[in-house]
Amino acid sequence: MYKAGRHFLQIPGPTNVPDRILRAIDAPTIDHRSAQFAELACFCLEGMKEIFQTTSPVIIYSASGTGAWEAALVNTLRQGDLVLTVETGQFGRLWANVARNLGLRVEVIPTDWRHGVDAAEVQARLAADPKREIAAVMIVHNETSTGVTSDVPSVRGALDTESHPALLMVDTISSLASIDYRHDEWGVDVSVGGSQKGLMLPPGLSFNAVSAKALDAAANRATLPNSFWRWDAMLEFNARGFFPFTPATNLLYGLREALHMLREEGLARVFSRHQRLAQATRKAVCGWGLEVVAQNPGEYSNTLTGVLMPEGHDEAHLRGVILDRFNMALGAGLGKLAGRAFRIGHLGDFNSLTLAGTLAGVQMGLELADVPHASGDVEAALRCLTAQAREQ
Ligand SMILES: *Cc1c(COP(=O)(O)O)cnc(C)c1O
Repeated sequence: MYKAGRHFLQIPGPTNVPDRILRAIDAPTIDHRSAQFAELACFCLEGMKEIFQTTSPVIIYSASGTGAWEAALVNTLRQGDLVLTVETGQFGRLWANVARNLGLRVEVIPTDWRHGVDAAEVQARLAADPKREIAAVMIVHNETSTGVTSDVPSVRGALDTESHPALLMVDTISSLASIDYRHDEWGVDVSVGGSQKGLMLPPGLSFNAVSAKALDAAANRATLPNSFWRWDAMLEFNARGFFPFTPATNLLYGLREALHMLREEGLARVFSRHQRLAQATRKAVCGWGLEVVAQNPGEYSNTLTGVLMPEGHDEAHLRGVILDRFNMALGAGLGKLAGRAFRIGHLGDFNSLTLAGTLAGVQMGLELADVPHASGDVEAALRCLTAQAREQ
């Protein structure tokens, strides 16, 4: 049955794809060995450097983010290498699983899933590695299962203070093009991105931004078997605007449009827009008397908010009611938080009124699903959005 009005896709990725990008994708596929394609590819490859804030190469894969996780590892590491990771939530856990599946040894620093990476803990572990067995440190910048953003420079600082040679690998899938992320300045060796979040594209593309040190590891140290993910073949072809195999041409049309849109708005404004909308979201959550999953205000995510359900109430039921009555999808509780927390995605092509609609839907859903909450309400968020609009 036709459901009138727009579907509100308020999960923290995939995000709503703006009409401009949908229209850009809707064009005839061209010969991927043509000059016209090379122009498209060069524009996208160069543009993605701006997004990662790097002068190093960015690799574009036709794959979901998980593929780019795997690519980061297979290009740089050896069979049996030890990698250190921090389990900030479900995505940290899944990346660690990818490493295990590849035959790497994985050491996990646990968290309570309500805090980000503790750089002091990472540093202590690095200090206890006199033989320099740890080949890579893997962290998730913005943990999408909890809504916690970690401080990447502090982890870089830990490696530097210990003069530890491990590669620093960072998942920026749910922060890229929405929360400030600086591949070069932060000294990251491999940054992993995806198309379906801040870049406002459908799922299907993912990225590796690679430092000179990572390229050196790829050329001189890595022994893990790999083929599809190989950086060397990609870079060789990319230099002329081509790919070693058939690229996702139509998604690249979309990426070109997204890069134009992000340039028009300007990354600084994109970041502050996400910051403002996140702040207003928390006002509403606080007004409902509900608890945000993230416990440290310095680590609140600007792209999503994880909200804990009152004891005895299931987030899946609440989300089901909201989808059924208001045609809005909210993020499920993942892993340890299944049943206990839902997530409001506020990233990508998103503004004050889409947030107001989103929060109104959540509030009406709480009411309909009989979830106990304070009557202090969306009004608090609207006041916050109004004050922000006055200041702009
Ligand atoms: C969305 C997301 C992924 C997704 O990986 P897919 O393979 O595209 O599903 C990985 N990491 C983080 C932090 C994410 O938010």
